[in-house]
Amino acid sequence: MRTAGGTRLPIPAGFSLIAGPCSAESLTQLRTVAACLDGLRRRGYPVEALRAGVWKPRTRPGHFEGYGEEALGWLQQIKAEFPDLPLMIEVATPAHTQAALKAGIDRFWVGARTVSNPFTVQALADSLRGSGLTIRVKNPVSPDLALWIGAMERFEKAGLKVEAVHRGFGMYNAAPYRNAPLWELPIELKQRCAGLRVLCDPSHIAGQARYVSEIAQLAVDLEMDGLMVELHPAPETALSDAAQQLTPEAFSDLLAGLCFKHIHTNSDRLETLRRLIDETDRELIAVLAHRFDLVRQMGTVKKEENLSVLQLNRWQTVLAQRAEWARASGLNPEFAKTLFRCIHTESVEIQR
Ligand code: PEP
Ligand code: MN
Repeated sequence: MRTAGGTRLPIPAGFSLIAGPCSAESLTQLRTVAACLDGLRRRGYPVEALRAGVWKPRTRPGHFEGYGEEALGWLQQIKAEFPDLPLMIEVATPAHTQAALKAGIDRFWVGARTVSNPFTVQALADSLRGSGLTIRVKNPVSPDLALWIGAMERFEKAGLKVEAVHRGFGMYNAAPYRNAPLWELPIELKQRCAGLRVLCDPSHIAGQARYVSEIAQLAVDLEMDGLMVELHPAPETALSDAAQQLTPEAFSDLLAGLCFKHIHTNSDRLETLRRLIDETDRELIAVLAHRFDLVRQMGTVKKEENLSVLQLNRWQTVLAQRAEWARASGLNPEFAKTLFRCIHTESVEIQR
């Protein structure tokens, strides 16, 4: 997604590039990624750190959960071979932070699942108190800005420097992505927390490698402060998040294609808003598709139970309720009625 008319500028020095495999899988894998990042840095890219998952928080049991302490050993070896390349891992318990600090890991992030639990966040903050480190805090899985800010406040109170990472939100339908970007949330976060740096993790938003660069470009257009990208020498063999990891070549191409523009002109502000409207409309369509899917299922039930397609009482209640919901959200109730009449016509058509 390249916008027309923007002047291309080099990647600014303050922009953080963090990249690496979803999970540390072997010394060879980490060495290949480290060599790639080292090469990019030599070519002038502001590579900040190599990321790698050591303990993997899996949604369901029975999947690969990371190599743990063994992976910390590989990372120590990488540090010896690439002393100028800081290493960054996810921590989820005080035991993780202790082991990682002992192994000389330079940077940490807190993952989306961990951020959702204030007890765990507080325990982590206490375990890092006095370390003077910067902690990257991913957004919680749910679109809850207060929970995200609350987690960052706990780390700040423990004396850490804090930066946010936007990785999208779990929704029942985030198509075509894995997680819904809901860009209005990181934008609102930046407005509420002046000076907070917000990075974007396009890999976990995308879920598939082919969407990563368009999301990365949008993050740049929205003035995010860096990117955290999953990178694997052979993504198809990855033990976690195989579909979304980029090869080193694809990552180089992504960087070469990123377009940084002068952002303080009227047309660029307009362009940014247009992109946000595009994304919102995409979400709207996904929600409608889900609604019509439910309508189709209802059609089957009505047919099986020999019920009529149009149930007038139910439809009148629906219409009045939608108008009321619209009013409560500051929308014109008459507009809501027009919209739902149109949706209803299509629903009846589908069921017939
Ligand atoms: C990850 O970065 O590999 C990860 C597990 O991320 P998240 O917490 O955003 O799902
Ligand atoms: Mn991952």
